[in-house]
Amino acid sequence: MKNDIHDKILGSYVGLAVGDALGATTEFMTPREIQVNIGVHNKITGGGWLRLKPGRVTDDTEMSLALGNSLIKSQGFNLNCIGDHYVQWMRSKPVDIGSTVRKGIRDYMLKGITVQMESEMAAGNGAAMRNLPLIIYCLKKWGYFEQMTRLQSHLTHNNKKSDLITLCFGEMTKILLETGDKLHALKIANRLIKINPKFSYSRYKGESSGYIVDTFKTVMHYFSDETSFEKILVGVVNQGGDADTNGAIAGMMAGALYGYSSIPAKWTKKIDTEVLRAIRIQCRELMDIPVRYTDEI
Ligand SMILES: [Mg+2]
Repeated sequence: MKNDIHDKILGSYVGLAVGDALGATTEFMTPREIQVNIGVHNKITGGGWLRLKPGRVTDDTEMSLALGNSLIKSQGFNLNCIGDHYVQWMRSKPVDIGSTVRKGIRDYMLKGITVQMESEMAAGNGAAMRNLPLIIYCLKKWGYFEQMTRLQSHLTHNNKKSDLITLCFGEMTKILLETGDKLHALKIANRLIKINPKFSYSRYKGESSGYIVDTFKTVMHYFSDETSFEKILVGVVNQGGDADTNGAIAGMMAGALYGYSSIPAKWTKKIDTEVLRAIRIQCRELMDIPVRYTDEI
């Protein structure tokens, strides 16, 4: 079962939740503060600036689940249904919500706007952090992935760098899920860096903020250098900064490469059981829904 695609899909989704819950503790800290206060952060202990219960996930996992539920509800891709699910999530008083995400959801809720104005302010990682359900959903018909990703992203984040990196993470995750070929996945990232040299992570200096380029550098630095799910995640979350989102994206890719069985049980058993249940259901159902736009029918 270890190399089974279902084990890898479950690994990527649970990996996302594990990275989110693990990283939430060190969000906004510096590596030095983490070292002094915690040592090496490698346990899901909750706390952090949000004072979370151990195993509590944040917006990264919750918005992914909202996107996945919308695809299941409309049995296809329906942008208004996605917007409605984001509104429903925002109304549930989430423990954390980014300012760009809040503005986008409010504009949809109050004015029906589904495409934000293109903006440099929207170069955050809030679209990339929630795109995994679309990756799983589009595996059957990959030709739809780019357009659907741009549409769901632009509800809140309309920015070229956000688009390029969200799409790149998606392409890489697909390859990891289907073939486990890490070198091939790294080539996809290198192709992007060739066109955008500022995305290069070869001289990584610890940039770990929520700026999408920093997220790309942090995730890629540890993903390319480290050799297990645990090592990749520990490396990323000990950089602090936007540790939960960077951890979530790293967990998605590491889980896609190494599979569910590679995620340490000490982490999975801490995750909220309702969240794990919802993830298991989505992993099954997203594979079965036809890839299509249901708002055109
Ligand atoms: Mg978060």
